[in-house]
Amino acid sequence: MSLVARIFLSKRAEDQRCILCEDKYFILSHNVKCITSTVTSAFCRGFVVFKGDFMEIYQLVRNISQGYLPNVEEVELLLRAEGQELSYIFEAADKINTQYNGNQVHIRGIIEFSNYCRARCAYCGLNAENKELARYRMEPDEIIQTAKEAIDAGYKTIVLQSGEDLWYTKEKISYIIKGIKALGDVAVTLSVGERDYEDYRQWKEDGADRFLLKHETINRKLYEKLHPHSTLRNRILCLKQLKQLGYQTGSGFMIGLPGQTTKDIAKDILFLNRLKVDMAGIGPFIPHKGTALRDAPAGSNEMTLKALAVSRLILKTTHLPATTALRTLNGKDGQKAFHVGANVIMLKLEPYKYRRLYEIYPKALGVEKSIREERAEMERFIESMGKEVAKGRGDSIRFIERL
Ligand code: SF4
Repeated sequence: MSLVARIFLSKRAEDQRCILCEDKYFILSHNVKCITSTVTSAFCRGFVVFKGDFMEIYQLVRNISQGYLPNVEEVELLLRAEGQELSYIFEAADKINTQYNGNQVHIRGIIEFSNYCRARCAYCGLNAENKELARYRMEPDEIIQTAKEAIDAGYKTIVLQSGEDLWYTKEKISYIIKGIKALGDVAVTLSVGERDYEDYRQWKEDGADRFLLKHETINRKLYEKLHPHSTLRNRILCLKQLKQLGYQTGSGFMIGLPGQTTKDIAKDILFLNRLKVDMAGIGPFIPHKGTALRDAPAGSNEMTLKALAVSRLILKTTHLPATTALRTLNGKDGQKAFHVGANVIMLKLEPYKYRRLYEIYPKALGVEKSIREERAEMERFIESMGKEVAKGRGDSIRFIERL
């Protein structure tokens, strides 16, 4: 609805139900507020004035909250929302997150164990053509030892991430998975890129629980321009294989890639839904000097938060992290992510001498601290937001429901 609409209500405004709280009342006002939020004094009894697309967005959000799957144009409409409409979407996403996932935030530990990469992703500082970067590999036993330190500090999920580095053969990765699984009840997530089906199969048999493989963009032309070494078809094939093998599968995409449109982002969100992902990382593009996109502008944090919120409305039980990229561009937006649908955060575990070199995009690392200190600091931060730190492994609800 593009015109100002005036709706006369035969009942008193207080008789209307809030679409978010259900059991509370909805105060109809110029600023349309739920009474669990701050009630404004400027509400009009009997009249509602909805401006712009609010009525359409209001109805759409209500329908999605109740299970309706929007089409591309409807997702685009939500992504274009601003002001009051946007605040409404953010509030709805927060409520859906609490309703389906509780008030908890899961802390994952990530070991970035190698910055060697055979791939040539146009946006990534680790790309094979960046000759300026000093490269490192952690030895398998060093990786297992780092995981042990993290488990002792309270971590229940260890994410093993690297560039596409074939030095780590199927057997080496198997050794690492088994070594970590022997340390206790801990989930192992792999994030090592495109590999053969047989590698994926073996690692699942060895005990790996989850696999992260972002699709980055579902726009085929854009994908293949940014990934000259690969095809979108192969990426999707890998994702389907991982799901078929029984991994809790994560994907995700970037916001603000040069040439990307709002429609592309809407399609990215709907692709995550079609794939029924257990986890989804959505972060802004950040240019790196060692890449072809060094002069391109960074992606928008606001659009990242919108995409996160709209994803939460649709993907109710999927784990959604407040990505490091979002936190890198602006720490406050990283915090805001937890109030628009995010329920996961990842902290680096590898020694600082390696962290400095794992530079997909430039970022500050801060003062060096131990794994235990960093975890304790994050727990305090989560609690300061009024959230709880999740105690378990944090398997995806979607995955548990499939068992
Ligand atoms: S995004 Fe991943 S696969 Fe692509 S260059 Fe970077 S590390 Fe390699």
